[in-house]
Amino acid sequence: MHGKVYEENKHTELAALADAVMSYAENRVRVAPPLDQPMSEAELDARVGQTITAEGFGGVATMRLFADRLAPTCLSTDHPRYLSFIPCAPSDAAVMFDLVVGASSIYGGSWLEGAGAVYAENQALRWVADLAGMPPEAGGVFTPGGTIGNLSALVAARHTARRTAAVGVRPNRVAATAGAHSSIVSACDVMDAEFVGVPADEQWRLTGPNLRAVLEEHGPETFFAVVATCGTTNFGIIDDLASVAEVCREYGIWFHVDGAYGGAGLAAPSVRDLYTGIEHCDSFIVDPHKWLFAPFDCCALLYREPAEARAAHTQKAGYLDVLTEAPEWNPTDYSVGLTRRARGLPFWFSLAVNGTDAYEAAIEHTLDVARFAEEEVRRRPYLELVRGRDLSVVVFRRLGWSPADYTAWSDRMLAEEFAFVVPTTHEGETLARFAVVNPETSEADIIAILDTMA
Ligand SMILES: *Cc1c(COP(=O)(O)O)cnc(C)c1O
Repeated sequence: MHGKVYEENKHTELAALADAVMSYAENRVRVAPPLDQPMSEAELDARVGQTITAEGFGGVATMRLFADRLAPTCLSTDHPRYLSFIPCAPSDAAVMFDLVVGASSIYGGSWLEGAGAVYAENQALRWVADLAGMPPEAGGVFTPGGTIGNLSALVAARHTARRTAAVGVRPNRVAATAGAHSSIVSACDVMDAEFVGVPADEQWRLTGPNLRAVLEEHGPETFFAVVATCGTTNFGIIDDLASVAEVCREYGIWFHVDGAYGGAGLAAPSVRDLYTGIEHCDSFIVDPHKWLFAPFDCCALLYREPAEARAAHTQKAGYLDVLTEAPEWNPTDYSVGLTRRARGLPFWFSLAVNGTDAYEAAIEHTLDVARFAEEEVRRRPYLELVRGRDLSVVVFRRLGWSPADYTAWSDRMLAEEFAFVVPTTHEGETLARFAVVNPETSEADIIAILDTMA
């Protein structure tokens, strides 16, 4: 095909594709989605088959294939009865703007290429830094998730510790509790660093006195970071940040706070006191894709002194000199990775659209629903709370159930596309767990699920 005819066809094809994509996206946001359920590879072979062909299927047909055959086998993490792991329930504004980011071919790694995007992302980071009480110089970057955020912070911490250590001392240890997220141990593996567990106190928290004992036992100069968690993944426990911060300051050890899930609670006045001491952190992460209503994948990583992180992370090469020698803010200098999507923009857009008061209200609402779930568990004789709730995770046991009972119950709810609540384990015991971060999750949802356990 040639000339004008080709142009016209191209235009019609694009229009049809845009229509298919936009109406799918709009419907997905507007209409409450089904929970859906996974399928085996053999089932998908039968249902979908080979999709990569020499001729291609064309846009509209391939979009239909995705919508009809692939998407229904992917769980809706934003379903109000998806309470496993940590759900992801993005705001309408954030989801719609994610399409715009995808359409815009923005390189989010440097100011030179993405000035306006980086400027906006930095305002969203500033909001988070202010919630944590970090100083005006604080800054950072949006990474794909808490795992890369934690790794990047620890790389910066070790770089800094080794730069300032006495001759012959190469700090290589990280202290945290067993309740710290698996990504901390994983980061230590990647870095060939040693994870040293600190015994938790009777409330299962990391505390200054216990930390001090472990540091003294191993030699404080051998540690390059202490990781405290504000909102453990399994229970939502907030470590005693103030006493941990004090010990870190005393020994001059980098204080990293992992708030991937629970950091969002900083925006909720009803629980803000639990975070006292966070303002002393050297680095901090929170995942907007968890409890701050942004789509995957998005982690806000902040440093008290970004120059330290920059020294650790900047990649140097002749072809990058034009970027690395510039005085402007290049997000890529603050984490592992070079090329980056401006993944903070959907979060920024939603903050700008809705205003921060709406965030406060939405987080408080999820806390209210979690509080209601806790009360319902206490009220029902066949259930027992495992530990009082700090945030929006509720862990409880069904008296008399074996691990197989929990699994059968969970599998049945998923097969019926009624709810997705996988069991967890703690000290070898299988337990039920709700993580409430979706403002659409209602008290009625909680009652409906608990009724299935009677
Ligand atoms: C989820 C989580 C992480 C890991 O974050 P990803 O975004 O899944 O990589 C780290 N720490 C805590 C406390 C978490 O809850």
